[in-house]
Amino acid sequence: MEPWVGSFGARAEKMARQPVYLDHNASTPLLPEARGALVDALDLSGNPSSVHAQGRALKTLIETARDQVATAAGAQRGQVVFTGSATEAITQAIVGGARALPLDGIVVSAGEHAAVMKAAEASGLPVSVVGLLASGLVDLDSLAARFDTAEARGETLLVCVQWVNNETGVIQPIAAVSARVGASRHFLFVDAVQAFGKLDLDFAASAADMMAVSGHKIGGPAGIGALLVKAHADQVRLIPGGGQELGRRGGTESTATIAGFGAAAETFGRHYDAGRIGGLLAQIEAGLLALSPDCMVFGQAAPRLGNVVNFAVPGIGNAFAMMGLDLAGVAVSAGSACSSGKVGRSPVLAAMGVDPALADCGLRVSLGWNSTEEDVARFLAAFGEIVGRHRTRHGRATIVAAA
Ligand code: PLP
Repeated sequence: MEPWVGSFGARAEKMARQPVYLDHNASTPLLPEARGALVDALDLSGNPSSVHAQGRALKTLIETARDQVATAAGAQRGQVVFTGSATEAITQAIVGGARALPLDGIVVSAGEHAAVMKAAEASGLPVSVVGLLASGLVDLDSLAARFDTAEARGETLLVCVQWVNNETGVIQPIAAVSARVGASRHFLFVDAVQAFGKLDLDFAASAADMMAVSGHKIGGPAGIGALLVKAHADQVRLIPGGGQELGRRGGTESTATIAGFGAAAETFGRHYDAGRIGGLLAQIEAGLLALSPDCMVFGQAAPRLGNVVNFAVPGIGNAFAMMGLDLAGVAVSAGSACSSGKVGRSPVLAAMGVDPALADCGLRVSLGWNSTEEDVARFLAAFGEIVGRHRTRHGRATIVAAA
């Protein structure tokens, strides 16, 4: 055999074995610009609080990143507080908010991320949970009823509603929630982690008092986030420390991850082509329906972000499907990334009233800036084999009525 034939074959085989990453809502790969900024900053020594030249150079990187994040979020630069993750920003807003604001209770939607749920629990204040409709949208009537009770009791609430659900991509009616909270004495916190870079946050003009965003969902490094905060809530704090971030978040700043976050915030829009990604998602949804006409898409009746689909083929359990996909080199998830690494039942699907047996078949495929047609084809081929194997063993999957 000609040597080039062998090397071509080996390369083709290697390419065929390249993993297919379709779990961008868990974490999206680092953008080249973010990597460059991160690595360059790692090589600098010093402490950004120091007055000498090395310290000032680091401080400049942080302030550049603050401008970049502020611009991407429609915030003023002074409204951006860097934190160690969005989870920390969320905890600062809720636990710190319970300490600093005149609050009587916290209201969360049932679809909130664990970071919000746990922070609400930890706040020490009474927590009310507003349910989701079957569509995945927050139940605005229940929220209105909670406001009426607060009115009658003279309570002030911190309302926590996420902008986009990480599991289903459902876009919550933030404008309607804002209209209700903005005109009242209540406070609004928005978890904008999955919306940042994909929807216009326009924080400064919004009714939100605080918002949380994360680096690793927009091609920045993990371990960096920001709390966007309006001046009247500026006293909301979690970590006192040595006065960094104008006293709003103590601890020596992680200049490299901040610089990486800033670069990602500035360049994400150049890499993330929503139209192209929406087209790939449409191919996935059409492909799934062709493979299994009883495939159900959760949140189908609601406005959804065009990069994620959470679906179930009745009878095909997500643990089984994920194992098969993993063996084929395709990474997806069964809802939100769980720290235990186990596949648990999704509280979001439960809140939407999805039958538990069907929820246990739920799989989340989320696309990102570097997703390709080939990723889609390989996912559909691998999932097609799983469906085929299931049919051989169990006969055709049962048809379940749409929830
Ligand atoms: N909120 C939402 C909606 C998320 O999807 C995530 C991450 O999965 C978080 C909060 C937490 O973000 P971080 O990983 O930066 O703590």
